[in-house]
Amino acid sequence: MDDAEKLIAMNKAFKILRERQRRNLEKYPEIKEIAKKIRVVREKSVGNEELLEKTVENLKRRGFTVKRAEDRVEALSIISELLEGEKVIVKSKSNLSKEIGLREELEKLGFDVVETDVGDRLIQILNEHPSHPTGPAVHLSVKLISEKLSEYFGFPIPPDAGRIVELLREDIQRHVKIANVGITGANAITKEGAAVLLHNEGNIFEVMHRPKRWIILAGIEKVYPSVEDAIMAAKLQSFYATGEILPSFVEIVSGTAKTADIEKKLLKSGSPEEVILILIDNGRSRIANSEFREVLYCLGCGNCVANCPSHSVHGKKFTGGRFALIDALYGRKDVLKLCLSCRRCKKNCPMEIDIPKMISSLRDGNEIVNFLISHAIWLNERIKLEILKYLLK
Ligand code: SF4
Ligand code: SF4
Repeated sequence: MDDAEKLIAMNKAFKILRERQRRNLEKYPEIKEIAKKIRVVREKSVGNEELLEKTVENLKRRGFTVKRAEDRVEALSIISELLEGEKVIVKSKSNLSKEIGLREELEKLGFDVVETDVGDRLIQILNEHPSHPTGPAVHLSVKLISEKLSEYFGFPIPPDAGRIVELLREDIQRHVKIANVGITGANAITKEGAAVLLHNEGNIFEVMHRPKRWIILAGIEKVYPSVEDAIMAAKLQSFYATGEILPSFVEIVSGTAKTADIEKKLLKSGSPEEVILILIDNGRSRIANSEFREVLYCLGCGNCVANCPSHSVHGKKFTGGRFALIDALYGRKDVLKLCLSCRRCKKNCPMEIDIPKMISSLRDGNEIVNFLISHAIWLNERIKLEILKYLLK
């Protein structure tokens, strides 16, 4: 029953998202043209070692410390070394940190790692599984959240979304104040030597300004030829993730804090003391030269998940769209039997990534048999969900 309630809440939230996208598409029809342009940019940039080298050179010239990690083990070792002597670490949403299991690994080493996005902090406190890359808690109803948070905080919390957000922000703030180091992802790194980050909650301001160190994690595929291209991609990501044409904040960071106010000499000023960008490969170079190359054009908007009918009934058992494909590429091939080959992920992807084709090439067995089995399982789950929806009314 608990799971059914979560699926119902998640599907309701995705319906609201699709409705907002539909309304705003009438106001911003240019979004389709932007998507076509960015697809071409991604085709030229992904796996382009020359562009990446130039970007690294310029990032270093502008004051970033840049480190490269071949795989998750190397990335985790670099990060844990950088955190030596620290206790509380604050971080913002990052698909890459999830991919390398950053929080779990750092917790094993004794660090207190605190998520600063409200949805992620909620998922962390309640020990839940995220249901969408940019809306991790969409499967939780306000009633369920208030019950579980009341248990966690030890006092009654009303089912009031505003009050819940306020409480979570207070909890996040307590940790931000005592953290010396912050970790974020990056939506793009550009040839001019800049990192581009999008956020809606304002928490990235706080994480990036921890006094000692700001660590940025970026996959090597995040490289763009210019800031302008990265901004166009930001518009796309925002629209397909939230239905809004722009997020509340777009950070373009092209160096460390400095001043030239005294005799025009460039001097370090303000926090953080150091900005470290860790470029992580973790199989991307191999994927860029394989039949799965297209998956690296992904903007991480999650629209394939929000439109995946299989995810809508199976939830975390089938993460949906690109995320189910990634699960399979990292060894969980068995989940692919739940894909319906309906192609809705490709149709709703701004980059038109052919996820269904890649799924079918990875999936074992006969395609017709797979098609029939996945549909039979889906229909069974869908009927159960509809009955529960009726009973819960
Ligand atoms: S093709 Fe598979 S992954 Fe894509 S939307 Fe359909 S069920 Fe989901
Ligand atoms: S595959 Fe497409 S729809 Fe899915 S997260 Fe990536 S860009 Fe968005």
